[in-house]
Amino acid sequence: MTPVRVIRGQALPTTDHVPVAIIGAGACGLSVAIRLRDSGIDCVLLERDALPGGSTALSSGFIPAAGSALQKRLDITDSQTTFSEDIQAKAHGDAAPHLVTAYTAAVVRAIDALEQHGLPFEVLDGFLYPGHRARRMHTVPERTGTALMTRLEQAATTAGADILTNAVVSELWIDVDDVIQGIGYRHPGGDVQYLACDLLVVACNGFGGNAAMVGDLLPAMRDATFAGHAGNDGSAITWGTQLGARLADLGGYQGHGSWVTPQGALMSWAVMMAGGVQLNAEGVRFHDETAGYSEAAIHVLAQPGGVAWNVFDAPLLKLARAFPDFVAAEQAGAVRTAADIAALATLLGCDAAVLHQTLAAMQPNDDDTEGRQFQRPLVAPYFAVKVTGALFHTQGGLDIDAHCRVLRADGKPFPNLLAAGGAARGVSGNAVWGYLSGNGLLSAIGGGWLAAETAALQLASPPH
Ligand SMILES: Cc1cc2nc3c(=O)[nH]c(=O)nc-3n(C[C@H](O)[C@H](O)[C@H](O)COP(=O)(O)OP(=O)(O)OC[C@H]3O[C@@H](n4cnc5c(N)ncnc54)[C@H](O)[C@@H]3O)c2cc1C
Repeated sequence: MTPVRVIRGQALPTTDHVPVAIIGAGACGLSVAIRLRDSGIDCVLLERDALPGGSTALSSGFIPAAGSALQKRLDITDSQTTFSEDIQAKAHGDAAPHLVTAYTAAVVRAIDALEQHGLPFEVLDGFLYPGHRARRMHTVPERTGTALMTRLEQAATTAGADILTNAVVSELWIDVDDVIQGIGYRHPGGDVQYLACDLLVVACNGFGGNAAMVGDLLPAMRDATFAGHAGNDGSAITWGTQLGARLADLGGYQGHGSWVTPQGALMSWAVMMAGGVQLNAEGVRFHDETAGYSEAAIHVLAQPGGVAWNVFDAPLLKLARAFPDFVAAEQAGAVRTAADIAALATLLGCDAAVLHQTLAAMQPNDDDTEGRQFQRPLVAPYFAVKVTGALFHTQGGLDIDAHCRVLRADGKPFPNLLAAGGAARGVSGNAVWGYLSGNGLLSAIGGGWLAAETAALQLASPPH
């Protein structure tokens, strides 16, 4: 990791100047840039990689939004109130209320505007993710984070945003009045270069790729696979600490209980929501799979060997094949077929009688011991995929107000420092179970949009 630091009270060396500098060209940074260009404001995105990707490119790319023009065209009844309630219900009321309100509103403005920028969104059909009461997952037709990134980057550059790639930001320069002067960055092997800015947006995601921080802050994930991007190195937290910024919800994160092992791919939780189950090596279920995939990471890691089997049948295999991640995992040999219970028991290494009992208990209209209701039992042939629990991204970070202004330890905002996406506090509260699916890109795209709107307002009338 490149060491990052804050330089306070010194004059930034003479350099180029841009109205808004953005650290990180993931979904958040690109959303900031697109919205800024809509207001005619120049900006430069600084991206450490040769090609913008970040965790966004590794994601499924599903963005929740309630009340979008697309939902209305599809006659989907939904509202920001319902969505906000769903977020708070998942977080047991512990999600930052000002951000829930601000992000659920902003993400609709973003989705509607991104459609105008040529992103051909669709809304996922056929199942609901845990805790969502309406179909609100917006996706590009390819249903991949890579395609979402390609389309966002194209929209940003077409709108006139400048992206500086291979540019690792390592220094934040701030004066004695807490006004950001600019940044220092390096190209590989090069000297530090400087860029002055009127406003800085931190969009470099969280600390999931920083093993020491994960060990300290998320001990349950200490030994888990991290499925996100290496750029999640905790720079925002390090800068925030040196700046005297307030940090919040550092115990919040997105885990996932369906990380295909050893192939290393995501198997969509849609299969669980539609009737699939997770079994351990003894052939028994160990949690209510419909409660959420984030906390499922902990449940799976607690099983023998830290693994479980996703078990499903032919109709669910068809559903799974609608997700490119699953198709890739299947091509890599992750999907095993068992003609009957005896064969499935052999695969899992468990007692066939126990497995028979587990599957026979999946009866409709009957709360099972884990509190789950099934629509139907699984029928042979069975399919099974070995999975483990993984850390996808962190949800705690720089504390921000309802305008994405970074807050100092005394609760007052820095004059010209904004943050959103994984670099900032999210809307999942302070624990793994608080993550409602989509909270990541909600914070990145809704938050990015909002940060740009704040930047546009501040540039029009700078704070005194
Ligand atoms: C497997 C997986 C599936 C997921 N699926 C979903 C999903 O379907 N829906 C959802 O809502 N969320 C999902 N998430 C979470 C989602 O990916 C993140 O919440 C989201 O991408 C965060 O966006 P971001 O722009 O904040 O960060 P990123 O996309 O990670 O972008 C940050 C960028 O900053 C750059 N950067 C970092 N440090 C520096 C530096 N010092 N200088 C310059 N550049 C820097 C990085 O290279 C990176 O490009 C998933 C995550 C994973 C891992």
